[in-house]
Amino acid sequence: MAVKGTGPYNPENIFAKILRGDIPCKKVFENEWVLAFQDIAPKAAVHVLIIPKKPYVSFIDFTKSASEDEISGIMKAAGKIASDLGLDETGYRVITNAGENSGQEVPHFHLHLLGGQPLPPFPV
Ligand code: 5GP
Repeated sequence: MAVKGTGPYNPENIFAKILRGDIPCKKVFENEWVLAFQDIAPKAAVHVLIIPKKPYVSFIDFTKSASEDEISGIMKAAGKIASDLGLDETGYRVITNAGENSGQEVPHFHLHLLGGQPLPPFPV
């Protein structure tokens, strides 16, 4: 079910539980700013979720409230992961869903990195 991209952060959301280690994930990358892991229901051959370690509900919340280091940290991490996965040559897509109109399901800001195959025309 789609969630609102506004309002207080809910620490019981599934990505908060992954960050706390309460539930497992297939980790792809981690540094001081971000955790990246395989999507549990991949929409492409490569489908990685890249999330900030701190609690932000959505893109606007993140860009308003996160530090410059966190913002550059997630972008650099996304680029490194795409490169390390060999997506540069074949192409890839990076998106974020925010709020009800987008169908955002998990109210913790995240980037989707999709690739590894021809992707359907945008929007997926
Ligand atoms: P959203 O719709 O919020 O942009 O995307 C949420 C994504 O999280 C979906 O692609 C969904 O498959 C993924 N997801 C939901 N629950 C879990 C989980 O428990 N583990 C992992 N790895 N991914 C999840």
